[in-house]
Amino acid sequence: MPESGYISDPKLSTHNVMVAAQAKGTDFLFKTEVIDILKKDGRTAGVKLADGSEIAAPVVVNVAGPHSFVINRLAGVEESMNIKTRPMKQEVAHVPAPEGLDWEHDGYMLSDGDIGTYSRPEVGNHFLIGSEAPECDPRLWVDDPDNYDLNFTDQYKCMVMREAMRVSDLTVPNQYQGVVDLYDCSDDWIPIYDKSDLPGFYMAVGTSGNQYKNAPVVGDMMAGLIDFCEKGRDHDKDPFQFYLKYTRRNLNVGFYSRNRKINTDSSFSVIG
Ligand SMILES: Cc1cc2nc3c(=O)[nH]c(=O)nc-3n(C[C@H](O)[C@H](O)[C@H](O)COP(=O)(O)OP(=O)(O)OC[C@H]3O[C@@H](n4cnc5c(N)ncnc54)[C@H](O)[C@@H]3O)c2cc1C
Repeated sequence: MPESGYISDPKLSTHNVMVAAQAKGTDFLFKTEVIDILKKDGRTAGVKLADGSEIAAPVVVNVAGPHSFVINRLAGVEESMNIKTRPMKQEVAHVPAPEGLDWEHDGYMLSDGDIGTYSRPEVGNHFLIGSEAPECDPRLWVDDPDNYDLNFTDQYKCMVMREAMRVSDLTVPNQYQGVVDLYDCSDDWIPIYDKSDLPGFYMAVGTSGNQYKNAPVVGDMMAGLIDFCEKGRDHDKDPFQFYLKYTRRNLNVGFYSRNRKINTDSSFSVIG
């Protein structure tokens, strides 16, 4: 895929987006927790912060990642949604490439459904290996995204062992290195990009371990959706159509509805 690729430094790429947004007048409040969604006259009125202060706003968008269900509960919209989100623990392994293999320069992104893993080259001549959530593996659901076990489990060992069935001389290291974090997983592993039953409250949630590089398109799409709804159109009955300028086709945003039936065509995995 000549026009594809991967982002090996998500922190830097996110920082770049932040700087671009600031240049357009966006303000950021770091280390600031939203503890309530304000309501007035039957619609969103803003947010309440942990220090007791309030920010008034006619529109609030839930982009809380693995905490999305918490924010939806604060808004009082979760109960009525057909598709819900919840956090799932994920482990990503970084393991050294076998000696003599320059995987950092010569390697590929691999998706290998038969062993239930994906991998790509990582800096330091490493393999980065993640799970494609094969049915035989346990799902590591997490109740409290602020308090869960950050240690690696058998998921790590199993993924590396499976990759080693494909790559001669790849070994399971004694000391585990990589990432433990949470997916914001939806019931059918497809995101929810939608309005809610509370006017003025929107959500871009349930990214289910993918969607990182879709973010710029999703931002544009959400802006269009919000504009559409705030002008009084009924997105539930007559869904917003978003024009994809590069592929030159309309996307029916109703596909991502919170009230869709579970999409049985989904892979029910990070593949989406
Ligand atoms: C291990 C792992 C591997 C992944 N690999 C890939 C990949 O290869 N490709 C890909 O495309 N995607 C990948 N993803 C998914 C990708 O990271 C997410 O889709 C993306 O980060 C979602 O962005 P977001 O801004 O919606 O949410 P997040 O990045 O989760 O950000 C949510 C933010 O909201 C904040 N927040 C939560 N609650 C509150 C509150 N009450 N008050 C204030 N702030 C709050 C959080 O602190 C956080 O900063 C991966 C995810 C994981 C966990």
